[in-house]
Amino acid sequence: MKKIIIIGSGPAGLTAAIYGARDSFEILVIEGSQPGGQLTTTTIVENYPGFEEGVNGVELIQKMKKQAQKYGASFISESVKSVNFSQKPFKIVTNSSEYSADVVIIATGARSRSLELPNEKAFWGKGIHTCATCDGYFYKDKKVIVVGGGDSAMEEAGFLAKFAEKVMLIHRKNIFTASKILQERILNNPKIEAFWDTEIKEYLGKDRINAVKLINNKNNQESKMLIDGIFMAIGHIPNTEFLKNQLKLGKNNYIEPINNVYTEIKGVFVAGDVADWRYRQAITAAGFGCMAVLAAEKYLDER
Ligand code: NDP
Repeated sequence: MKKIIIIGSGPAGLTAAIYGARDSFEILVIEGSQPGGQLTTTTIVENYPGFEEGVNGVELIQKMKKQAQKYGASFISESVKSVNFSQKPFKIVTNSSEYSADVVIIATGARSRSLELPNEKAFWGKGIHTCATCDGYFYKDKKVIVVGGGDSAMEEAGFLAKFAEKVMLIHRKNIFTASKILQERILNNPKIEAFWDTEIKEYLGKDRINAVKLINNKNNQESKMLIDGIFMAIGHIPNTEFLKNQLKLGKNNYIEPINNVYTEIKGVFVAGDVADWRYRQAITAAGFGCMAVLAAEKYLDER
């Protein structure tokens, strides 16, 4: 039985743990299958405030975890399989144990959809990225691909065009699903070229990606394109599967928070990318983590 259980150990969960433990609440963080979350798959993070020279994603997470442990937060590396929010205390079932808690903070994040091609894992962070705001700066005067045809792909392409020499927008259909205004902006940008009905067939390179093999899915014609990096913008999947039938989910299975961090269940709070398809930044997730635990503390105090 714990006072506050935080599910997830990215910047949202860890910030909640730091604040909660420092405020003398008993905190247990269930870290999940990828402790540290998406930040651990990036290399250098240059836009997290306070790190003038940038900071390695793994190191940033380790620092946050140590900071939470310093104030007494406990961690277990288990994955939550299901929850029962219909009873109090709430029940949380992991792959190996069961826990109860007065308060639960869901900070399980989201994962980027990928093309699932061979070599993808090896090139992840070494030429393959999922966030132009985070990693676009590294591609100043370089050639980059953006994959996708939705709003994110348009925004990523537009953002990258500020730095890159050229942006190739690769889309598997011959129409974008993005809003008209974003499409127009992109198609009128001289630095951006759209490739329709086109898919990446293979990643090429040794230590880093330096080219891709493309296929036109209408005429099966293959071609090679030399590039420096690829930004996937084919959607994200929030990690909400374990909440089935326990919490109402919104569009694309994201949690739709009430007043930023509350849910429809009293005592269940939410923070970070699992409830945020728009900003998806370490700093915004951390901010939501702080808000969620302060709301949780207030809820416990008032009880
Ligand atoms: P979407 O699901 O809207 O779009 C995903 C895109 O990726 C589609 O073009 C889809 O193509 C393509 N895609 C999916 N899987 C693959 C694959 N395996 N191979 C190749 N292409 C693939 O995701 P977004 O991240 O763009 O947007 C998510 C939500 O966030 C949407 O509701 C969007 O409106 C919103 N959003 C709004 C913004 C704004 O208002 N400024 C900015 C960013 C996002 P296909 O059509 O063929 O399936």
